[in-house]
Amino acid sequence: MKILSGLSVAPGIVIGKALLYLEDDYPEIPRYMISADQVEGELGRFGQAVEDAAAELRELKEGSREISREQSVIFDAHILMAEDPDFHYQIRARIESEYENIEWIVWEVARDLSQKLMVSSDPYLRERAADIADVSRRIISHLMGIKRFSLSDLDDDVILVAHNLLPSDALGMNKSRVKALVMNMGSRTSHTAILAKAFGLPSVLGISTATREITSGDTLIVDGGAGKVILDPDEETLGRYRDSVADYKKNYAELLGLGELPAETLDGHRVALKANIEIPEEAEDLHRYGAEGIGLYRSEFLFLKSGQSADEEMQYHAYRSVIKAMKGKPVTIRTVDLGGDKLLSGLQTAQESNPLLGCRAIRFSLSLPEIFKTQLRAILRASVDGPVKIMFPMISGIEELEEAIAILEEAKGECRRRGQSYADRIEVGTMIEIPAAVMTADYLVERSDFFSIGTNDLIQYTLAVDRGNEKVSYLAQPTHPAVLRLIKAAIDAAHAGGIKAAMCGELAGDPHATPLLLGLGLDEFSMTAISIPKVKHLIRSANYEKCRDLAYEAVNCSSYKQVNALLDQWAG
Ligand code: PEP
Ligand code: MG
Repeated sequence: MKILSGLSVAPGIVIGKALLYLEDDYPEIPRYMISADQVEGELGRFGQAVEDAAAELRELKEGSREISREQSVIFDAHILMAEDPDFHYQIRARIESEYENIEWIVWEVARDLSQKLMVSSDPYLRERAADIADVSRRIISHLMGIKRFSLSDLDDDVILVAHNLLPSDALGMNKSRVKALVMNMGSRTSHTAILAKAFGLPSVLGISTATREITSGDTLIVDGGAGKVILDPDEETLGRYRDSVADYKKNYAELLGLGELPAETLDGHRVALKANIEIPEEAEDLHRYGAEGIGLYRSEFLFLKSGQSADEEMQYHAYRSVIKAMKGKPVTIRTVDLGGDKLLSGLQTAQESNPLLGCRAIRFSLSLPEIFKTQLRAILRASVDGPVKIMFPMISGIEELEEAIAILEEAKGECRRRGQSYADRIEVGTMIEIPAAVMTADYLVERSDFFSIGTNDLIQYTLAVDRGNEKVSYLAQPTHPAVLRLIKAAIDAAHAGGIKAAMCGELAGDPHATPLLLGLGLDEFSMTAISIPKVKHLIRSANYEKCRDLAYEAVNCSSYKQVNALLDQWAG
């Protein structure tokens, strides 16, 4: 028996068998010069890789049990692209002029092609950009000898053990088979962690030796709440954990009994508790957790799931389904936050040297106004089915916000010209995720109907800590006084401007922080739905005036350790 410690990311206990998934990381593509007499050899390797990729695609097409007509067409299209003479011509021309290795040449040609298509005004052509990226990845995988297996095709229940599962991998996996997640990499606020939580998967991330120590078939206990993985547990430990699973379920069932009771303190201070969702299907289940609406719909997962830019109709139907499922409760749709660790294959963001500071979120949308407007039109059209709010991610200053609002106005004009209606009043919110937004919140408030504080990024950009890097995750302290002061300043600025302050970062669902956030005056807490009952229970047992005193003390602490000690003392 061996205990491996990592970061507690999503609570719950699971006992099961490990499945090691090692092909998840797409390694860096090698780049080196070649001599003129190596060109034909490289082209020969390319020809072989294309043949192998096409054979693999045919196999996938014929071997899939329940393949839809649509999927079959995609496989055919990918085969055609891999064998396309023009593509081959461009590869030859480029290698003969640049004398670089074939993997790099394929990547470059595919990137240039995708980029040209991405900016096209024709949605069909834009969608082809992702296909080109997908096909080229497959060819490059063959050139580099990488074997990939699919997580969507699991026959047994497993605990997935991976080096670094990408958000798109997590989306595609068979969720009824994966029971828990263990990763070498990752932090509490990485997007894979957020998805794992949304799927209700107990998860422990940041165990740097996990894939070295665990082999497929090992028995594991994953204790998500404690951030522990027990490898090959003895009988006594297994028995103890089986009892804990039963207790955990019983306690949670009691909390669920709070149902739709208001999130109101003992002295009558009321706040709203809402849910964060990543995929439309999650909306169906939110009522049972007592969610008063959706405070953050991460719309980019719609794009990530299909691996391409979603067209207007597809988005419209997805947004409508969410709005209808909420039965009149408000839905806040965050415009796409692509880039960073959420890459749409085929976009240059994949090769930015510092993607978290690069073309991400609102910057991405503003750089591709046609794609942005398509999303806004889809949201506008869906707004006739129920209350919708729009919010823009990663706003760094008033110029970006004004530009985004101007494009929203253009999208409204386009809807009117097409005779498509939309709701008269749609609130527009600003996500506060960058210190610069807090420092200029008095200006942003003038053009915003609400603020929503994204603490995952606010912590990352304030403390200069990559949110996905487990090596520095010890620094990502949400209760660091700098972070608390910024949160306080954002809430105060919202109130001074007469608007509400929401929070949709992971901190909003952290029970440890509940009294502190209440005391800081937060109006709305948005979190993974499973966290709502516990937070509601804490709010209903709290006294608002005492929480205000606690918050005052906390923002005047000198260190996160002091703040945490204060919160521990409060929790008794
Ligand atoms: C945040 O940054 O806190 C947030 C809610 O957005 P995301 O986690 O999607 O970046
Ligand atoms: Mg964010």
